[in-house]
Amino acid sequence: MRCIFCCAERPPSLEHIFSLAIGGTITTDRVCAGCNSILGSRVDSALNNFLPVRTRRAELGLAGNSGKPPSIFEMLLGDQKLIGPEANRIRTSLNKATGKLDHRQLYHATDVVTPDGKKARQITLDERDKKQIPKVIQRERKRHALPPLSPEELAIEASKFTVKTVEPLLVQVNIDVSFAFLRQAMMKIAYELAVVWLGESYLDDPLERDEVKRSRFGIPTESKI
Ligand SMILES: [Zn+2]
Repeated sequence: MRCIFCCAERPPSLEHIFSLAIGGTITTDRVCAGCNSILGSRVDSALNNFLPVRTRRAELGLAGNSGKPPSIFEMLLGDQKLIGPEANRIRTSLNKATGKLDHRQLYHATDVVTPDGKKARQITLDERDKKQIPKVIQRERKRHALPPLSPEELAIEASKFTVKTVEPLLVQVNIDVSFAFLRQAMMKIAYELAVVWLGESYLDDPLERDEVKRSRFGIPTESKI
């Protein structure tokens, strides 16, 4: 078989024109195993993992070769910023037991001036971490070359915290969407469909010279795949 990408005589492999991960069912056996593997990892993956496509795959439960579809919450997870005067950073994860999103305030320390003009260190942490307060106080004192507090003093200082509930919780989420290699992914589909629909004559079209084909899909010219 002459592979439609490297144009070498090689054993065929099963190539999904629209990849399995996006529910593709049309296949061709005109691609060698080496080119198939390069296309899968460099070209198809760009489209499969393009965020809008990933989100749709999550909705439709399309797993592809990985065996597990993307999570519908994927884009909502990770480190984020709260919107509002606090502008604190939180970390969002998915609690698998409850199926709900869990937001955790990230540790934040800042220098502030109290109303009576004293310099102070203001620490913000998640309420679930409040047992850490004594440790945090001693650590901050050490960092600022202050003597450690006695257990009694520490107990008093550690009880002087305020709890704040952020309601409603407005979160700014930054989403990275990469358009890199998307064009290659589209071209691959178009090219394979062209070969499947139009046959050999398309393959021998002088405008579709071997070099052009290889470079277009990122397949090395001299590779012995
Ligand atoms: Zn090939």
